[in-house]
Amino acid sequence: MEENIKNKIIESLEIQKLIFGEELYSRIELTEKPIEKKTSSILTTAEKITIESSSNLFAAEFENAQTLDELFKLIHTCQKCSLGQTRKNFVFGAGNPNANAMLIGEAPGADEDEQGEPFVGRAGQLLTKILSAINFQREDVYIANILKCRPPNNRNPLPIEMDTCRPYLLKQIELIKPKIILCLGLVAANNLLNKNSTLGNLRNNIYELNGIKVLVTFHPAALLRNPNWKKDCWIDVQNFRKLYDELVKQSD
Ligand code: SF4
Repeated sequence: MEENIKNKIIESLEIQKLIFGEELYSRIELTEKPIEKKTSSILTTAEKITIESSSNLFAAEFENAQTLDELFKLIHTCQKCSLGQTRKNFVFGAGNPNANAMLIGEAPGADEDEQGEPFVGRAGQLLTKILSAINFQREDVYIANILKCRPPNNRNPLPIEMDTCRPYLLKQIELIKPKIILCLGLVAANNLLNKNSTLGNLRNNIYELNGIKVLVTFHPAALLRNPNWKKDCWIDVQNFRKLYDELVKQSD
């Protein structure tokens, strides 16, 4: 049994080293309080954001969906914006439909468009490793994007496209009922939280969206371009895991 635990710790440290580099070992050993302190104070100081639900008799049909499958059937042929014309595949989302944690990115890229799954390219592989480093399997969480269709040539999503597509994501959130959401990248965070802020500001706060805690970190694609940001990402995801554990414990 003890050998098992030891092996798990070694495996976890190896994953962390692979993703975040050697420097973290000294950070982990030397850091005793800050992460815990930040998370617990943040728990009581989250900025509250309310988004009205439009589920009523006169709402669009998808808004009355009772399950993710039902929602998928109602929206997977969507042509509400021009991306419906250029996509290969509609990328709905993937993972545990009853997950306590959701991860939300910006939009599908080429690999995701090809396979119809979110975060399956290089950035997706990095995301899987990051999740693993905080003891999550991809199947433990639910992963989705603000946009369900790929913007051509990976250009940034247009505001009109995000505004048009966002109700689908809000409906997914309503059905999954996560306790916590981790936004991946500035575009996803600003759009979901209805903000116009910097990543630095957003990362230093915890928000509460319709009662669901929301944290923000880097998009894995940004980490591939700027490995120096991995250290800050490591702090974010540890806070995410810690808050997740607290929220799950509170609800037991
Ligand atoms: S991006 Fe969203 S709104 Fe635009 S066509 Fe795709 S599913 Fe519809």
